[in-house]
Amino acid sequence: MSVVVSRIVLKSAREIELMRAAGRIVLEVLQALESRVRPGTTTAELNEVASRMIDEAGATALFRGVKNPQARFPFPGSICSSVNEEVVHGIPNDRPLQDGDIVSVDCGVRLRGYCGDSARTLVVGEASPAVQRLLDVTREALSIALREMRPHCRWSTIARKMQVWVEKHGYGVVREFVGHGIGREMHEEPKVPNFVERGRSKSDFELVPGMTLAVEPMVTAGRPEVEFGDNSRWPVVTKDRMWAAHFEHTVAVTEGGLDILTAES
Ligand code: MG
Ligand code: MG
Repeated sequence: MSVVVSRIVLKSAREIELMRAAGRIVLEVLQALESRVRPGTTTAELNEVASRMIDEAGATALFRGVKNPQARFPFPGSICSSVNEEVVHGIPNDRPLQDGDIVSVDCGVRLRGYCGDSARTLVVGEASPAVQRLLDVTREALSIALREMRPHCRWSTIARKMQVWVEKHGYGVVREFVGHGIGREMHEEPKVPNFVERGRSKSDFELVPGMTLAVEPMVTAGRPEVEFGDNSRWPVVTKDRMWAAHFEHTVAVTEGGLDILTAES
């Protein structure tokens, strides 16, 4: 079986350090937003904080201005903020968050030509046990991947472990959106699914040193199917309106294992 690596751009140690610098800004933004989110906060306020921090760091927000052929307008936010049944690509707005809501905040920046991308689902006030379990299982799905990733293992081996973990808790793995290669561009080859595609082994790949990936499980409390929000491409919501969670890190595969570029070092 051939391994498709030709379109995957491997990064030098210097480039990985540049991506770490971008990842550091993303980490600081997400930490700042996590410390601010409480009942009554709006996602527009979170977006404002993120915009200011990204500007002050001399970076560019990756999501702002993203065009999609199906969308009526380019994405207007510096962050994506997806509340409750919204999975990803939520537009920051003026609706106050309620106690017990969850908000998935996704932040990507480019600094000196290199990108970092990370997301986490935040709890507003206090989460119900059921919601906390959804977040814990999703965060652990990402942790499973980060623990297992090392040179020369195949991505499908890791994706299967994530999928089995999520589904044994009765949750769904979103199929329409997947992780991705990242570097100079936010989205590079390869696609990094959080599930195993039957009969699609050609899209599988082997992890090799220098590969930089955004790993991002998106998990639904109910069925995995999603649809698009009213009148535009944003946000993506679950079809059954059950809630969803999303955790993401940008990582580099190294000779020694894995280097997480959007976490505390
Ligand atoms: Mg992201
Ligand atoms: Mg991403």
